[in-house]
Amino acid sequence: MTGNVAAKRMDVASLVRSGEPALAYQPLVDLGSGRLLGFEALLRWQHEEEFILPRVFIPWLEANGEIAKVGEWVLAEGCRQAADWPKNVQLAINCSLVQLQRGVARGAVQRALERAGLDPDRLTVEVTEQAMTDERAIQDLGAIRELGVELAVDDVGTSWTSFDVLRRMSINTIKIDRSFVSNLEPHQGINRMIVETVVHLAGSAGMTTVAEGVETALEVTILKEFGCDAAQGYFFAPPLTLEQASRLAHHGGFCFPLEGDGWNEKDNAAAGTALSRN
Ligand code: C2E
Ligand code: MG
Ligand code: MG
Repeated sequence: MTGNVAAKRMDVASLVRSGEPALAYQPLVDLGSGRLLGFEALLRWQHEEEFILPRVFIPWLEANGEIAKVGEWVLAEGCRQAADWPKNVQLAINCSLVQLQRGVARGAVQRALERAGLDPDRLTVEVTEQAMTDERAIQDLGAIRELGVELAVDDVGTSWTSFDVLRRMSINTIKIDRSFVSNLEPHQGINRMIVETVVHLAGSAGMTTVAEGVETALEVTILKEFGCDAAQGYFFAPPLTLEQASRLAHHGGFCFPLEGDGWNEKDNAAAGTALSRN
C-alpha cells in the first residue's frame, strides 16, 4: 500500500469517527399525476469541518464492520419519521449487501417497524443487483419480504440481473439507474432503447418502474411516453432536510409540476409558500 492511500484511509476513519449520521429525504413522484408518493432516505455524515460523500463513507463503514450498526440506525430513524407522516406517504431505505450477507437486515427491519409502529407496507427496502446473486442475501431478502415490506432493486442496468430472477424474488420495484436516464435525448438511441425495454419488461412482470436522477422536463416527457410509473431526481427535488420533507408529506396530496423549470432555489428557500402550489 502506498503512503498516500494509507493516509487517505486514516482520514476517512477519523472523519467518520468524529462525525455522526443524519438522513436526507428525496421525494419520489408519480409520473402520471405528479403526486408525491413518498421519500427515499439517504444517509449523510455530519462533520464539523468536512463534507463526506456517501460513496466514500459507505464503503468505509462496510469494510470496517460498522455498516450493520449504522444500517440499523437508518432503519430506526427513517421508520420513526415516516410514522409521523400521513399513511399514504411511503419510505424507501437503502440496505447494504453486507447487512444482508450477515443476515442482520431482517431483524433490524422488524425492530424498526415495531418500535415506530409503522405498517410494513409503507416501507420499501432498496438493494443493488449484486444482492440477487448472493445466496445468504437472497435468504434475508425473502425473510424481509415475508414481513410485508416491499423490495426494490436499485441502479438497474448496471449489472443486468435477469428479469426471471427478479420475478422469482417477488421484487416490487425496479429503479432504473441515472446513467441511462440522464441520456435520453433523441440522439442517444441506445439509452432510450434500454430504458424503454426495462420499463416494458418490468411492467409485463408486474413490477413498478422508477427512473432515478431525472433532471429535465424532456426526460419526464420521454419517461411518461415509455410508461414509466414514477421518478426521482433534481428536476423534482434534491434530497431534502427532514423539515422540508415533512412539510411536503403533511401537505395532503402534494403535486409536483411535470413540466417547466422544475425545482429551484426559490422553491427551496420559500418552501412554506412556493411548495404549497397544487
Ligand atoms: P442511490 O440509492 O441510487 O441514491 C440515489 C443517489 O442519486 C443519491 O446520491 C442522490 O442524492 C443522487 N441523486 C438523486 N437525484 C439526482 C439527480 O437528479 N442527479 C444526480 N446527479 N444525482 C441525483 P447519494 O445521496 O450521494 O447516495 C449515493 C448512494 O449511497 C445511494 O445511491 C446508495 O447506494 C448509497 N446510500 C445512501 N444512503 C444509504 C444508506 O442508508 N445505506 C446504504 N447501505 N447505502 C446508502
Ligand atoms: Mg437507493
Ligand atoms: Mg440508485
